[in-house]
Amino acid sequence: MGEVIIVGGGASGLMAGIIAARQKHKVTILEHKDKIGKKILATGNGKCNYTNLMQTPECYRSSDSTFPGKVLAQFDVTKTLDFFSDLGIYPKEKRGYIYPNSEQAASIVEVLKMELERLNVKIQCNIHVERIVKKESFLIITNKGQFRADKIILATGGCASAQLGSDGSGYELAKELGHRIIKPLPALVQLKSSEKYFKTLAGVRIEALVKLFINQKLMTEEYGELLMANYGVSGIPIFQISRFAAKALSENNKVILKIDFLPSLNWTEVSNLINNRIKNNPVKNMEELLIGLFNHKLAYVMLKEAGIPAYLPCKDANQNKVTNLVNQIKEWSIPINEPNSFDQAQVSAGGIDTREIRPDTMESKLIKGLYFTGEIIDVDGTCGGYNLQWAWTTGFVAGMGLS
Ligand SMILES: Cc1cc2nc3c(=O)[nH]c(=O)nc-3n(C[C@H](O)[C@H](O)[C@H](O)COP(=O)(O)OP(=O)(O)OC[C@H]3O[C@@H](n4cnc5c(N)ncnc54)[C@H](O)[C@@H]3O)c2cc1C
Repeated sequence: MGEVIIVGGGASGLMAGIIAARQKHKVTILEHKDKIGKKILATGNGKCNYTNLMQTPECYRSSDSTFPGKVLAQFDVTKTLDFFSDLGIYPKEKRGYIYPNSEQAASIVEVLKMELERLNVKIQCNIHVERIVKKESFLIITNKGQFRADKIILATGGCASAQLGSDGSGYELAKELGHRIIKPLPALVQLKSSEKYFKTLAGVRIEALVKLFINQKLMTEEYGELLMANYGVSGIPIFQISRFAAKALSENNKVILKIDFLPSLNWTEVSNLINNRIKNNPVKNMEELLIGLFNHKLAYVMLKEAGIPAYLPCKDANQNKVTNLVNQIKEWSIPINEPNSFDQAQVSAGGIDTREIRPDTMESKLIKGLYFTGEIIDVDGTCGGYNLQWAWTTGFVAGMGLS
């Protein structure tokens, strides 16, 4: 068996290292940070949501929607749970989301590290890979000298949260080797709006249905807890739709969110609710009318946007303005300017064009002996353990594919 070098000691690189070493390859992992697995430590708010029992094709996004499924079928959630269970991770399930029972992401890094040590995988940190040249074998040029390898796995991640290691340098390495990169965009990220009312709304949390409109056409919708910030909107439903918003904005399309703050009631029911409250509370003013229905900051901005003074006695409310208020509650329209930056994003959408990768081995179709794993590939998962599942699966498939 020949020498294998894995560039990147993140989730997919560590998995690939274990599988390759179990196949009796001589493996070295080169990592430019001072430690391996730094991003894993930050996952799931430090608890590491390492996979999810609910797996459907919609959980993975790519320019080629058939590619993720072909790869994931080779190492699915059951195999992932077995793999980690063998290493000592007892799973804890919360509505399908899987965490280590210790609720410590460090447990995942520790068991991977122990297994790599048991298999005599060499881990070299503080080594930044600058170039890869394919001759007879691979020449790997780094800030600490040159390495040679018969096979190489590029597991450098994308360019989200660069402070945790993945700074986009992997794209450059792949490009130099002749691979096409689908433009990387931030995903699982907050969305920014220049509407002034966000300064007032900062800190408000509310369950809502978020609809994403691109050029006035409904693209997708998500329900969940919405978080208002001074720059715009955040929260799981925003993260889930963010990759579509980021792509549309990068193509100069108009992106608008429409928020339904009472999705369990239809428009007429909300209208009846507001009008009945007005009828039954003639001495209250409009701001007081909304107490107990919405967060007071949200109620204040809703009234302002509907053109209703907060101090207006309910009995004086004009019906057209009340209709505006109902519209605000059911279809609050927020223009989006841009996604937040890569530094704030959990993953990168885009990456190496999957048409140039074999789904059965993760080997490059352009260069024999070159493999790709994880987020560097043009596949991104939704929020909920899917990006790590993609990392584990691709690491496994590449490790096996070396043989
Ligand atoms: C805050 C946060 C929370 C997240 N939470 C979750 C979660 O709960 N569940 C989930 O499924 N996903 C989560 N993700 C996403 C998930 O962590 C990533 O998709 C996954 O780690 C990608 O694995 P990877 O191996 O492709 O890349 P990475 O884990 O990013 O690893 C790449 C490694 O390569 C190294 N590297 C890069 N370039 C070079 C170079 N030129 N030379 C040497 N080394 C290099 C980097 O330092 C890094 O260690 C989260 C991400 C973030 C940022």
